[in-house]
Amino acid sequence: MRRLSDRYIAGPELDDALAVVRTLNEAGKLATLDVLGEEVATAEEALAILADYEEAMAAIERDGLDANCSVKLTGLGLTVDPELCGESVRTLARTAGANGRFLRIDMEDSSTTTATLDLYRELRAEGHENVGIVLQAMLRRTLDDVLDLVELRPNVRVCKGIYVEPADIAYQGDEAIRFAFVEAMSALWEGGAKVAVATHDEWLVAEALRLIEERGLGPERYEFQMLLGVREDLADELVRNGHTLRVYVPYGRQWYEYSLRRLQENPKIARYVARDTLGRLKP
Ligand SMILES: Cc1cc2nc3c(=O)[nH]c(=O)nc-3n(C[C@H](O)[C@H](O)[C@H](O)COP(=O)(O)OP(=O)(O)OC[C@H]3O[C@@H](n4cnc5c(N)ncnc54)[C@H](O)[C@@H]3O)c2cc1C
Repeated sequence: MRRLSDRYIAGPELDDALAVVRTLNEAGKLATLDVLGEEVATAEEALAILADYEEAMAAIERDGLDANCSVKLTGLGLTVDPELCGESVRTLARTAGANGRFLRIDMEDSSTTTATLDLYRELRAEGHENVGIVLQAMLRRTLDDVLDLVELRPNVRVCKGIYVEPADIAYQGDEAIRFAFVEAMSALWEGGAKVAVATHDEWLVAEALRLIEERGLGPERYEFQMLLGVREDLADELVRNGHTLRVYVPYGRQWYEYSLRRLQENPKIARYVARDTLGRLKP
């Protein structure tokens, strides 16, 4: 897992993440920082993650980096103390807003979807225009969520969805998920939203580019997003062709959960790590 995490995680410390962001910025790529930590068990842990984000936001300003932050609500205490979680997100939204930056709320498993969307709506009603959300194409409810949200002209990251969800609430086949992804981004653009197209799937990237061209969308209506360490060739090509590309940069000591999900998602990597480990055991 440790070897695996090296590929997807900037490192254990904020300085590691800042160094990665600097390199990305020099290559014409933007970043979003993710402090690793989710499903915390106590309010103290949630407050420690809040403090890490505040430190990260201050460092982004100090170093003049082109980056914002992505937060996970369970990391800020959603399941421990929802009120504390809401206040922490408000604090971060205010700080980001004062710096002219954006704050993204990641989407976690389906047990948190309604609470996450409700908090997003509250934040927007309170005037936090600089906050955005994520919708997962695999969830059957997503198109309804798009239609409910679209009047807010939201900034939505659309992704396939990484959590394992049951068939009654989530599409299971690759083609069905791709189709739902296209449907969600089309409906969002139709309604005037900004879409962050978060995928490494070449077919979906091509489909997004086709829709962008067909609709004549400018850079204020879309960006592409990819994970650190994944399909850098495709990311480079998008940047070369003049598109905005943001890389999701996780860092921190709690790398295990994040790495485990990447491993479940891509068993090829598990084989690669296993082969390497066995190779080293051989005399
Ligand atoms: C910026 C960003 C933010 C995200 N935020 C969320 C979120 O808030 N909530 C959520 O549920 N999910 C999130 N995801 C994850 C997303 O839901 C998918 O699980 C993930 O992006 C893989 O789907 P894909 O569209 O890239 O397609 P896939 O079909 O999985 O991948 C397409 C190709 O990309 C390459 N690839 C994909 N993943 C890997 C990998 N791990 N290692 C190596 N190569 C790989 C392979 O070549 C693969 O064939 C996010 C993804 C991105 C890019």
